[in-house]
Amino acid sequence: MSKQVVFALSLLITLGVFAWTTARIVAFFRLTKPAFPVKDWGKRFKRVLTEVFGQSKMFRRPAVGLMHALVFWGFLVILFGSIEMVIDGLADTERFLAVLGPVYDVLIAFGDVFALVVLVAVIAFLIRRVAMDIPRFGGEEMKHTSHLDAILALSLIGLLMITLLGMNTAYVTYTALAGFEQKGLFPVSSLISSFLGSDLSVTTVYRVHEVNWWAHILLIFLFANILPYSKHFHVFMSVPNVFLSRLDPLGKLPNMPHITREIRAMLHPDTEGDSSGEPAELERFGVKDVEDITWKNYLDSLACTECGRCTAVCPARLTGKKLSPRKIIMDVRARMKEKGPGLIRKGKDFDDARSLLRDYVTEEELWACTTCNACARECPVNINHPVLIVDMRRYLVMEEASGPAGLNAVFSNIENNGAPWQYSREDRMLWAEDLYINA
Ligand code: SF4
Ligand code: SF4
Repeated sequence: MSKQVVFALSLLITLGVFAWTTARIVAFFRLTKPAFPVKDWGKRFKRVLTEVFGQSKMFRRPAVGLMHALVFWGFLVILFGSIEMVIDGLADTERFLAVLGPVYDVLIAFGDVFALVVLVAVIAFLIRRVAMDIPRFGGEEMKHTSHLDAILALSLIGLLMITLLGMNTAYVTYTALAGFEQKGLFPVSSLISSFLGSDLSVTTVYRVHEVNWWAHILLIFLFANILPYSKHFHVFMSVPNVFLSRLDPLGKLPNMPHITREIRAMLHPDTEGDSSGEPAELERFGVKDVEDITWKNYLDSLACTECGRCTAVCPARLTGKKLSPRKIIMDVRARMKEKGPGLIRKGKDFDDARSLLRDYVTEEELWACTTCNACARECPVNINHPVLIVDMRRYLVMEEASGPAGLNAVFSNIENNGAPWQYSREDRMLWAEDLYINA
């Protein structure tokens, strides 16, 4: 079988598996509820430019932020070489994009340098994860499999860089030995090549090149299909998640459209019935399970890198409460994985006698949240935890009337007295009686 045929088959299998995974994720998204209208595209593009491509949030911790940014930028540059490999594999050409001339030289040179930079950064990340005691890598939600997942992904990235440098070095060496024209510039690989002896045979070096070429491209295919099942899915999902993040100030909680409509109808009876743009039927107030979450909640869960930055700044967590915002986001992903297939197969009435609320997220966790938004501010991929937490509380209060006792007293005071205090309206100004203040 020719190289072209083997390559085309490998690519077809990769795309087939990826399409199957994508269809499964899309089906899960179909189970979710609407969130907010996506507009202000200019602001959204700006946010992607600064927060994703500029990695602005990561630089709050300069050293780690720089390492992460270098890996991310390296990926972008190296992607150019990967696209060329796919073209070469399908068309049986060698370095097809060299037709771009000087642009090609610059991109390939950057890719070669970044391969080394990313390799060094990945080794540093692996050492941090395996040998150092970083508090935010711990926590009850960080199971053994979460760490294995991170180590596997980092190891794969490391192998990708090793094979890329191996391929480039072999290419530089065999073109020099055989007297062929070298396409592209390879600062790092040329340096490595200069340390290799000149008594190598062209055939041997060419074989080394082929082995690295195949290893590199097959690792990319494997990586692309492992990612959706790993925390490193954020490589794909962080861009859409940042682009689609809420533009409202973090402290502004979204209203519940049905409640807003009721109140509007009470205050302005003439507008009653005007529900344009709002969901027609309401099956449940708030969020009890994954079929109640919005598409944005689910997208958040797929974009989570499990970095723990949110949990590390959570004041509830820092004062010993049982709350980890990262856990809540990871719980959404795990619950969708558990219940989603049943909902797809058997419809929205499917019930497995479990739910996101209580079986995953406890009431204690939900009521520990101060809605300070520190987690959402810190999250590098703009996940909004408090919106989900408040929606789960809304379910508890509005469907089960099971808020904490202190809060229930506040609710009944508001209902009876029009204020959170236990005094009647008539007694409200008693404290000012002798102070000569006119109420
Ligand atoms: S909003 Fe809630 S979960 Fe987020 S940091 Fe504040 S207390 Fe913690
Ligand atoms: S929610 Fe954001 S900050 Fe928290 S672990 Fe996930 S990616 Fe990191």
